[in-house]
Amino acid sequence: MNSLQKPDLPSPAPRVSDPEVLAGEIIETLTYRIGKDAKVAKPHDWLTATILVVRDRIIDRWMQSTRKAYETNAKRVYYLSLEFLIGRLMRDAVSNLGMMDDVRAALGSLGVNLDVIAELEPDAALGNGGLGRLAACFMESMASVDIPAYGYGIRYMHGLFRQQMSDGWQVELPETWLAHGNPWEFERRESSYEIGFGGSVETVGSYDEPPRYVWKPAERVIAMAYDTPVVGWRAQRVNTLRLWTAQPIDPILLDAFNAGDHIGALRESNKAEALARVLYPADATPAGQELRLRQEYFFSSASLQDILRRHLQQYPDFKSLPDKVSIQLNDTHPAVSVAELMRLLMDVHHLDFVEAWDITWRTFSYTNHTLLPEALESWPVPLFERLLPRHMQIVYAINAHILVDARKGKAMTDNEIRSISLIDENGERRVRMGNLAFIGSHSVNGVSALHTDLMKETVFADLHKLYPARINNKTNGITPRRWLMQCNPGLTALIREAIGDAFLDDAEQLKALDAMAEDSAFQQKFAAIKRKNKEALAQLVGNRMGVRLDPSAMFDIQIKRIHEYKRQLLNIIEAVALYDQIRSHPELDWTPRVKLFAGKAAPSYHNAKLIIKLANDVARVINNDPAVRGLLKVVFIPNYNVSLAEVMVPAADLSEQISTAGMEASGTGNMKFALNGALTIGTLDGANVEMRDWVGEDNIVIFGLTADEVARKRAEGHDPRPIIEASRELSQALAAIASGVFSPDDRNRFTSLVDGLYSHDWFMVAADFDSYTKAQREVDCLWANPAGWNAKTIRNTARMGWFSSDRTIRQYAKEIWRAG
Ligand SMILES: *Cc1c(COP(=O)(O)O)cnc(C)c1O
Repeated sequence: MNSLQKPDLPSPAPRVSDPEVLAGEIIETLTYRIGKDAKVAKPHDWLTATILVVRDRIIDRWMQSTRKAYETNAKRVYYLSLEFLIGRLMRDAVSNLGMMDDVRAALGSLGVNLDVIAELEPDAALGNGGLGRLAACFMESMASVDIPAYGYGIRYMHGLFRQQMSDGWQVELPETWLAHGNPWEFERRESSYEIGFGGSVETVGSYDEPPRYVWKPAERVIAMAYDTPVVGWRAQRVNTLRLWTAQPIDPILLDAFNAGDHIGALRESNKAEALARVLYPADATPAGQELRLRQEYFFSSASLQDILRRHLQQYPDFKSLPDKVSIQLNDTHPAVSVAELMRLLMDVHHLDFVEAWDITWRTFSYTNHTLLPEALESWPVPLFERLLPRHMQIVYAINAHILVDARKGKAMTDNEIRSISLIDENGERRVRMGNLAFIGSHSVNGVSALHTDLMKETVFADLHKLYPARINNKTNGITPRRWLMQCNPGLTALIREAIGDAFLDDAEQLKALDAMAEDSAFQQKFAAIKRKNKEALAQLVGNRMGVRLDPSAMFDIQIKRIHEYKRQLLNIIEAVALYDQIRSHPELDWTPRVKLFAGKAAPSYHNAKLIIKLANDVARVINNDPAVRGLLKVVFIPNYNVSLAEVMVPAADLSEQISTAGMEASGTGNMKFALNGALTIGTLDGANVEMRDWVGEDNIVIFGLTADEVARKRAEGHDPRPIIEASRELSQALAAIASGVFSPDDRNRFTSLVDGLYSHDWFMVAADFDSYTKAQREVDCLWANPAGWNAKTIRNTARMGWFSSDRTIRQYAKEIWRAG
């Protein structure tokens, strides 16, 4: 029995949830906790009151879940991630608690519309894109499949920036998601830890015992926890998302203040708070970003101190750590955790190196998310050493331990040794976080079958040779609760009517829909729901942007971060070519299309921002040309986030997943669309490869070079010029863009973009163009046969169940964590 249990204390009776009780509590909460008279309460007050009442129901399950983990000595999983792109929580929580109808009725009886107040909930945008959204889907799935788990991250005061358009250019504004407070979270003042930076390392000890090292940091800040409950499907269990905020040790330097230095008096405070203020944009080169390394260490150290404290509450020592704790590193951002756990075990808890190392690598596992060399994190040795002097020593010690074994035990060559070393010695010496994460883990996984294969052949080829059993695959997934049931209630209701409720608990049961793919009555209903979702998106676009869309046109959607490898440019050039074709051949029977885009570019990523401007410039010209009216529209919707995705995904007819093969690790947007009955046009990249295997090659449109072909072309020296010159469509489109047809105010605006395609075409836009346009015309042919199209869309929904993140999480639990 552990210290937490006081069996003589009674628990409150769990709260009931019929509409009348809920309505009464909402009024009470509004009055006594928010201090507002219902007669004058604003919609935001109703939202807060509703969340607090729902939260009470969650707390009951939360405490049960926590107790159960203690009582059964269950293994706990810790998911360390610098990003959690969770979006809104109310619908998720209410639906997973099974309270949707009751809450709706309760609010209705008070004259409040659930859908209206739900729209007011801010989107918690604590992530850039796929990696952060994966962490959010995983949190929900871990609760749903009953795994005791904690997510650890940073409570950024401003998540990623809010994107606005100014004359078609991206403008970044601070996101203020906490402006109205956050009723979901609990402040945990008691869970606070000191985090050090800088300073020096002292050696203590006498002749007859091994030396001890004591780090004397020059700076210290406090990490304080905020907990958000994460409710699993059918409230199976409730886990905790623990996000850290930074506080100064001395909130104000009174001596300075009293001496009249009012700004200097707040220096410590401002410096500490800067740590948890903003989320770094992905794709900004990590070089020189000292604050980023501070953030990584800050949240890693706080999380590990918390994990070790919880372990010692229940177990006598750390020998059992690898059996009772699994720590998953979401990319290399928390990789410094490997050195931090070593430091805590050796310097604070006095284990020796060998014991500490054995515990450390058996406890950690690491997920790799990218093969792009510029995205592989590394830190200059001088910076690392200055900020984390003790960790630098530990990195060297680990390196020596590993390299001696590699050279002597495994007879590796000098080149191989250089590539597996934790220190990059080419040019400025740098600490390689990918190698640290790899060496410090018992499992290293990729996120799709193709990505995992490429990992073995490229970035980690030599480490793979040294540890051939370590790399494994866990293809990403998405939670069907958010990405089908909540975002597409119409389709969910239709599927329940058609095949019953089994798919709600096991997405693979969707396969029962396969039998109805050719049933014309079912096709009509399926298409009618898609039509309604398209009307809802058309309304959003009309309201927000004043552009009218025809819901009977094909909605062709590409939404994701703007990056050259994701090739929004390929899609835009194709739109220009199509525009040209329609104008030249108005007599032909063109498929009416709306091309929709959304996505943020990293503020420092010049070409990505130029691509956004191009999309907007092209949109302005095409949308104002009466010659293509009703046949082609282009729309860029600002400020892509989870909530916008929830409207766009169910409304798509065609999903654009067109990255340069070999460059998208998995993708999860691709899965959301196909699950909601869109056809994919895509390359054989990331999880698209496995999607093709599941939905069948007749139900997906594949084009372009394969990853092998891209690699070969690059190795041989790809010359795009003859390819462009041989393609009339492509050269005309490029000429139009480069000569200022879409930018009469600045004719050279896009010259550099086009020059890049002529000179190196690194992302194979020119190389894949003809194959892509051919695939698009094939899509038009499929669209011309509605019965055939509908059958394909139904088969997509029917066959995507495997891509549920419940499946992914069960694989992690069984094969990596040995938990649950
Ligand atoms: C799913 C999702 C992503 C990832 O999209 P990809 O197409 O896989 O890059 C990014 N951002 C948001 C808001 C998402 O919901």
